[in-house]
Amino acid sequence: KARSAADAPVAASTLRDAGKLIEEFRLETDILRGLDREEFSLLFQPIVELSDSRIVGCEALMRWRHPVLDNVSPEHFIRIAEKTGSIKQLTEFAIIDGCATLKRLKALDACPEGFFLSINVSGKDIGRRGFIDFLGFTLEANDLSPEDVKLEITETALIPDVAIADKNLKQLHDLGCGISIDDFGTGHSNFAYLKSLPLTSLKIDRAFAGDAHSNPVSQSIVKLLIKLGKDLDVDIIAEGVETSDDVATLRSLGCRFAQGYYYHKPIPESELASVISDPGARLNLASA
Ligand code: C2E
Ligand code: MG
Ligand code: MG
Ligand code: MG
Repeated sequence: KARSAADAPVAASTLRDAGKLIEEFRLETDILRGLDREEFSLLFQPIVELSDSRIVGCEALMRWRHPVLDNVSPEHFIRIAEKTGSIKQLTEFAIIDGCATLKRLKALDACPEGFFLSINVSGKDIGRRGFIDFLGFTLEANDLSPEDVKLEITETALIPDVAIADKNLKQLHDLGCGISIDDFGTGHSNFAYLKSLPLTSLKIDRAFAGDAHSNPVSQSIVKLLIKLGKDLDVDIIAEGVETSDDVATLRSLGCRFAQGYYYHKPIPESELASVISDPGARLNLASA
């Protein structure tokens, strides 16, 4: 006798999916409440010139101190925020807080000429009406110029409205903000971007930049991207530089900029301010 659907045991996978949805829903609520309760903060990781280890800018990286779960990884909460919608509020927080920090850093006597802030944004932000106006307004409110800021874009979520995204990217370019492709070479960012975005920089994912000294395939890819950068007049930034071998290899391949634990971990604003004011104080720089 045939069983009806109602009699059928619920598949374990269905229960797992339901559990995941409930967890995501709860985290979404927690994100919005956490923003009110100042549980979110930004760390800043310096970006350096490979030839002399001079700091040229920094990337803002978000942290979430959850009251129960403690530190939640950005990979995790950003992915959920992109799905559920609170990415809008998180990005606005990164822009407001990041620009306020940049204004203070630029006021330091020792702040290098042209020092910039890179802010990570999602495809969802780029596809949202009013996003560039918000950015422009925040820059102005902090006496910053658009060239002081770069947006790092990773294709972690589908862009909801391609027409708005195109319009925003054009507006962003006209405004003069830098546009950077993040994690280049991974599944998230591919060559199609080079044709469709008015790029100013490209970040080589640490999967390649971090082992170019020992892995010939990675080394070929890094070489190719450096050549591409020169041809397209786009800055190349190597991510995930951890060892002096990485540094030596990237230098010999002609890579101009780098970022990674070898130089600096992501650090709070106060620490970045001291590093800018006294760059020689960092142990790493002595051996770089
Ligand atoms: P990402 O933008 O590619 O950032 C680089 C990640 O690599 C950061 O991880 C950074 O801490 C880490 N990293 C830097 N140097 C090294 C190194 O030498 N070795 C290793 N193993 N890792 C290194 P983090 O801070 O955990 O952020 C992970 C990702 O979360 C970011 O990847 C970015 O995609 C996303 N994210 C972080 N903050 C934000 C934000 O404010 N908005 C958005 N939309 N995404 C963010
Ligand atoms: Mg990034
Ligand atoms: Mg990256
Ligand atoms: Mg990433």
